[in-house]
Amino acid sequence: MRIVILGPPGAGKGTQGVRLAEELKITHLATGDMLRAEVKAGSELGRLAGDYMDRGDLVPDDVIIGMIQSRLTSDSGMVLDGFPRTLTQARALDEALTAADTPLDRTIYFSVSREELVQRLLNRASEQGRSDDTIETINRRMDVYEEQTAPVLDYYRSAGSVIEIDGTGTPSEVFGRLIEAVR
Ligand code: AMP
Repeated sequence: MRIVILGPPGAGKGTQGVRLAEELKITHLATGDMLRAEVKAGSELGRLAGDYMDRGDLVPDDVIIGMIQSRLTSDSGMVLDGFPRTLTQARALDEALTAADTPLDRTIYFSVSREELVQRLLNRASEQGRSDDTIETINRRMDVYEEQTAPVLDYYRSAGSVIEIDGTGTPSEVFGRLIEAVR
């Protein structure tokens, strides 16, 4: 099964994506996690990406697509979390999946109000100390989401295939809605 999870920063894509992949016994593919691993390892890719991430900007499409391309069709199933984030990425994903004849089975969107998202990200900042969870970067990431990633939602919506899930409530409540949408 191939599933894309869309939603703004702080909507719960990571938490729910990990749980869903475990439940379905498929790969959890999160570009944010992959990038943080590169930053931690001090690789060239990590050094390049780190500057964009710390500012709250998106890492350039060619870097992201190059990083993830070979993983898109290698496993029998996957939950894609944090990718695609631009129309260029969405089209690259379409092309890769069409070429491999492995279409998406579900496109899920978590909706959460901006107020709640900012509050969640500030809480995460104090719990996890992520370097991009400062108030300035959080606001920048919200703006970047609206400018560059919201069109991806419209792109999938015009293909008529997005399941919208209320992302508020406890993680277990949200997971219950997610499982229902996937089954
Ligand atoms: P995330 O953990 O998904 O919130 O991602 C953290 C940061 O990594 C984002 O703010 C971006 O700087 C970068 N990033 C993650 N995924 C992508 C992507 N698909 N395209 C561009 N930048 C990304």
